[in-house]
Amino acid sequence: MRVAVVGSGFAGSLLARVLKVQGHDVVLLERGTHPRFAIGESSTPLANLALERLARRYGLDDCYDLAAHGRWIKRFPELRRGLKRGFTFYRHHPGRPFAVQGARSERLLVAASPNDHVADTHWLRADVDHHFVRAAIAAGVDYRDRSEVTPETLKRLKVDFTVDASGAGGFLARHLGVPSHLERMHTRAGLLFSHFDGARLIRNAVPGLPAGPYPDDWAAVHHVIEEGWLYSLRFDHGVTSAGFLLKQSVAGAPEEMWRCLLQRYPTLGALFGDAKPLFPIAYEPRIQHRLAHAAGRGWAMLPHAYAFVDPLFSTGIAWSLRAIERLALCCEHARAPREQELTRYDALLSAEADQIDWLVAGAYLAMSRFELFAAQAMIYFAAVSFAEVRQRVAPSDDVAWSGFLGVGDRVLGGVPRASLWRLRHARTPQDRRDFIDWVTRSIAARNVCGLANPAVHGLYPVDLGVLVQRHATLGMSRESLISALPALRGADRRSLISDH
Ligand SMILES: Cc1cc2nc3c(=O)[nH]c(=O)nc-3n(C[C@H](O)[C@H](O)[C@H](O)COP(=O)(O)OP(=O)(O)OC[C@H]3O[C@@H](n4cnc5c(N)ncnc54)[C@H](O)[C@@H]3O)c2cc1C
Repeated sequence: MRVAVVGSGFAGSLLARVLKVQGHDVVLLERGTHPRFAIGESSTPLANLALERLARRYGLDDCYDLAAHGRWIKRFPELRRGLKRGFTFYRHHPGRPFAVQGARSERLLVAASPNDHVADTHWLRADVDHHFVRAAIAAGVDYRDRSEVTPETLKRLKVDFTVDASGAGGFLARHLGVPSHLERMHTRAGLLFSHFDGARLIRNAVPGLPAGPYPDDWAAVHHVIEEGWLYSLRFDHGVTSAGFLLKQSVAGAPEEMWRCLLQRYPTLGALFGDAKPLFPIAYEPRIQHRLAHAAGRGWAMLPHAYAFVDPLFSTGIAWSLRAIERLALCCEHARAPREQELTRYDALLSAEADQIDWLVAGAYLAMSRFELFAAQAMIYFAAVSFAEVRQRVAPSDDVAWSGFLGVGDRVLGGVPRASLWRLRHARTPQDRRDFIDWVTRSIAARNVCGLANPAVHGLYPVDLGVLVQRHATLGMSRESLISALPALRGADRRSLISDH
């Protein structure tokens, strides 16, 4: 099959390479050139598991090494990245520094890995995307940059199948007239962002923070404020990617908006007041997009071309990699995807876009009360930690077609939608207590990591002891779970690759 992949972000380049490895004739078209600045940087355990599966199935050993911080720095020290040990959240109030109040601190830390070696990473996308393009070229993909692609280009190239990996560029949406379904989305936020040099560490700006399960800064850090939230992703070379997601615009030019928000929240001012933007601070009034279809006869879109909700919970990279796995499976044995496979792909992406949107929109509603927000976050952590543990103890390529974020799961599938409804109706203190109890009950049958536990005061380590206690939740005996522990600790699985 002759395939065109339009867009050479990491996702387009990686899919193009996989298709080439499968024996297809692949052209990768990029309107810009590499290296280039991009955001969307924080990976997760599910993203890394997908990278490892792709590595194993298609013999891409670089993907295996890029799936853990320790392996990455050993093999690719020149590709810049940051250590990500977990998800850190704080709630800030206008005019007041972040208050350390012991067990009552509005602080939530959820560890995603047991140590630095197997930890997740923040991807400096300029370097990582460039790496994936070079690897695609080395595999034999016909890469053409500075290409303004049109339907005529594709006709001239005589392609049988087109993958739209143009992200928010929306190549196929424009050329095929795929309608927008933005009105379906509940999440609404603008983005004010850049990369910064000289941002301070939280532990230096907030004295007296009790030790958590990992150092607070080495994480995807989320600062929740009245206007929305700020992400802060630190790279190992000292640069920080940061951006405010704003429910409503703040007056002024982007630099003024940035300054004004830092002034309003003293701890954010302490963290970023002296930091220098490496690129002009930019503002986009709305970052969500959503289309009516993700696939049709002769074409498919990768998730970021089809829909984007919000960076909250770092869903984009993992979702994109899952979709790459699905499309790659459809193209094995030198064939084009069948119509029913594309229908299935389209339906799954649609359900997953809704699921992310419900979860994130609920989290925005919950932001006004940190205890509600923390409860809503537990739905995300229950879904991803259950999926992660299952994938680690029973690895299988069928995972590609399982729903992302609990889609299709009889226990968790309906929870994000129901939680959004409940949050909309939670008005009194009793409603809020009921909501927290409801979350705890709703995730119980998937809660393999001891989430929603008031006794830990918002500090969740990776606790394999809890996991062993909950072996029945995974349908496993205590003994079989104990024998699977090396896989859960992230023991080196290179042997699986060399066996390929
Ligand atoms: C503010 C923000 C923060 C995010 N944070 C996270 C995060 O922390 N973790 C996470 O997992 N995800 C995050 N995401 C999502 C993440 O950015 C995406 O999932 C990811 O970038 C998708 O990669 P991609 O390769 O599909 O697309 P992109 O990275 O968008 O690449 C698209 C490529 O297509 C090219 N292109 C566009 N139009 C055309 C055209 N017409 N012809 C040819 N080429 C074209 C572009 O030049 C670009 O190179 C974030 C997104 C945003 C907006």
